[in-house]
Amino acid sequence: MRAIVPVAPGVYRIPTLRDFINTLVLIDDDGSVVLVDTGTKRASKRIVAGLAAIGKHPADVQKIILTHAHSDHAGSAAELTRRSGLTGVGIHTDDAMYATSGEAPPMDQQTVLGRIFGRLSIGGFDPVPVAEKFDDGDVLDIAGGLSLHHTPGHTPGHISLRHEPTGVLFTGDAIWNMTGRMRWPVAAFCSSAALNQQSAHVLGELDYRVAVFTHGPHIRNNAREAVRGFLRRKGA
Ligand SMILES: [Zn+2]
Repeated sequence: MRAIVPVAPGVYRIPTLRDFINTLVLIDDDGSVVLVDTGTKRASKRIVAGLAAIGKHPADVQKIILTHAHSDHAGSAAELTRRSGLTGVGIHTDDAMYATSGEAPPMDQQTVLGRIFGRLSIGGFDPVPVAEKFDDGDVLDIAGGLSLHHTPGHTPGHISLRHEPTGVLFTGDAIWNMTGRMRWPVAAFCSSAALNQQSAHVLGELDYRVAVFTHGPHIRNNAREAVRGFLRRKGA
């Protein structure tokens, strides 16, 4: 497995547990780095090694963005924030309190597993300060333009992102691309699986060519058509 995988000009993904858990890397014009999602608590080594493979260092990281506050996305956020000399991460307003507490948002009580996991209160991570709170439609003036799209359901404040210069979509956990096909995230790990399936339709309406997933390999060509086909098949 390569330490870092090129996706588009200035866009990479770091497979932190093979293709099962990715970190998105964006390079700005000045050479600084934006990270989206930070894998599990054990991922920081892989992320630092992935950056080193393209000549970057944690000190080059200007911003860390989390798609949501789950332990396989926020697990190394506290450590990488420290190592990068940042004051905190950026996350949607509705997930911010979970980042600062290190506790995952509630799981779907409609599912048996969600009720069980909810009682066990698993899924925590090292609390991380929040430097920036995002809202739907925010466009960040970094890496040539990064638009943020609120896709709630998996968690209350889940976001997906679009890199404007390259037309790369990052779904986060709104859609997985595991075992060779797109699928919904496991319902028990969602705050509301039904709301996730409703809000994911936004991803069929954005304009992009390439789709990167936190979970699974990226889709290099005609990704929008593939995502639209998936949403259509699922009636979303
Ligand atoms: Zn998640």
